Amino acid sequence: MNAATSYETLIIGGGLAGLTCGLRLAEKGVKVAILEKGETDRYLCNSRICGGAFHVSYRDVHESPEVLMNAMKGKTQGFSRQSFLDVMANNAGSTAQWLRSKGLRFIKVGDAPHRQTTLAPPIAQKGRDYWHGRGGDVMLRTLHAELKKAGATVLLGTRALSLRMAGNQCIGIEAEQQGSKVLLDARNVVISDGGFQANPELLREFVTREPAKIRQRNAQTAMGDGLTMARAVGAKLVGMKNFYGHPLIQDALTNDDLWPFPVMDDLCVAGVMIDSSGKRFVDEGLGGVYLANHIAGMADPLSTIVIYDQPIWEGPGKAFITPANPLIITNGGTVHKADTICALAQKLALPAGVLEQTIGQYNTAIDAGTTTQLAPARSTRDHKAWPIRTAPFYAARLVAGITYTMGGIAVDGDCRVLDGNDNPITGLYAAGCATGGLEGGDAVGYVGGLSKSSTTGFQAAEHIAANRAR
Ligand SMILES: Cc1cc2nc3c(=O)[nH]c(=O)nc-3n(C[C@H](O)[C@H](O)[C@H](O)COP(=O)(O)OP(=O)(O)OC[C@H]3O[C@@H](n4cnc5c(N)ncnc54)[C@H](O)[C@@H]3O)c2cc1C
Repeated sequence: MNAATSYETLIIGGGLAGLTCGLRLAEKGVKVAILEKGETDRYLCNSRICGGAFHVSYRDVHESPEVLMNAMKGKTQGFSRQSFLDVMANNAGSTAQWLRSKGLRFIKVGDAPHRQTTLAPPIAQKGRDYWHGRGGDVMLRTLHAELKKAGATVLLGTRALSLRMAGNQCIGIEAEQQGSKVLLDARNVVISDGGFQANPELLREFVTREPAKIRQRNAQTAMGDGLTMARAVGAKLVGMKNFYGHPLIQDALTNDDLWPFPVMDDLCVAGVMIDSSGKRFVDEGLGGVYLANHIAGMADPLSTIVIYDQPIWEGPGKAFITPANPLIITNGGTVHKADTICALAQKLALPAGVLEQTIGQYNTAIDAGTTTQLAPARSTRDHKAWPIRTAPFYAARLVAGITYTMGGIAVDGDCRVLDGNDNPITGLYAAGCATGGLEGGDAVGYVGGLSKSSTTGFQAAEHIAANRAR
């Protein structure tokens, strides 16, 4: 093992959180190194292949702190740590503005509030190469060019293995570079390795009993290394069971043209979701992220089916910019179609009488305005319930697609890592999808991966830089 090399700050992971943190520190004159396990300059990570929308719980990041706070509270329903909400409400817009000053370009895509600050050029609407030379790819290349100008060090092909501690203080990292162990010293370490979604053991421990039966809807680079390291030095973990993701058509397990897009959210929240008994099992009105989490938590996550009719296929089915209609079919997905519910049930080997009764009761409840009395209830606050009445009728088997884990390392309002007693661990920070405590909870509240990663990366840098001289 080589003698330790010293930096003021070491950052684990070169996604948006790590690069934002590194660039802000370098701009403030801090000697910083970013460790990125990817070996080439186009290394994969979620930030590179993302959709590019900077939003806070579906509101544009530039809206007022009050609007952003209300949006987050509405989605997370009491789950989030107040200091985390404050950081997001007060800084998400200014951080996006700072990124713009560093050369990132944003455009408006359509009218939806959450797409008013979207990375340019926008991702392609289809194809495996949808991200090449677009959105997140351009963002990372721009940030790397700025880091170089600012004199920061980026160590590609360097995987952080463990934290080095002196008592309760983090003093550096042990890492692996080209098969050799290296020691790196630092006054501060920032964990920003993107979460634990690609680690089956951690998924089994916290998210689903059946990790092989959910679809990895991500770059598959986030193995939870940071979480494991932080846990080993006594960090508190929070909100571990939930993830950001979407229901996908089940063929996405074997057909790469069916993930990460198209997602099935619009069909699921307009139609009826059933399990292999032919009965409803969940409130479809709670939205796609909630539904994906529910599916992943079932005893058999591959047992769910969405049923819809022609008006849903022609309406909500075409709503999204990468619409399920026609992409699930043109990209090779299996959609069953029949003129009656009974015939549809036979195609799916479902009990026809049960399915007819499920759909009949559902339609009756919509007509009577009593969907909240169904078991399970069907809420209509966020998503209208459509009757399933007009042939042809359709069915598609589903799989939960996991994009990133919402839970992770507990941090305070300065992104300092907290121990089991809620005290900061000296010299240790976390940012981006490595953190927990903002998103999730019983409502599976989603805030936004890009805004979370950029804002927490920036916030960690501000605290590190402000405390340099002390
Ligand atoms: C298909 C898709 C679409 C999305 N669309 C949107 C969107 O429109 N809006 C939005 O807000 N969010 C979106 N997201 C989510 C968003 O991309 C992420 O939440 C965000 O980019 C995560 O940034 P990060 O820096 O925390 O993690 P990442 O981007 O995952 O970066 C983590 C980095 O750490 C590296 N790493 C991991 N372990 C180690 C280690 N031990 N040592 C060194 N390096 C390590 C990884 O290689 C990786 O480069 C999308 C994600 C996907 C996959």
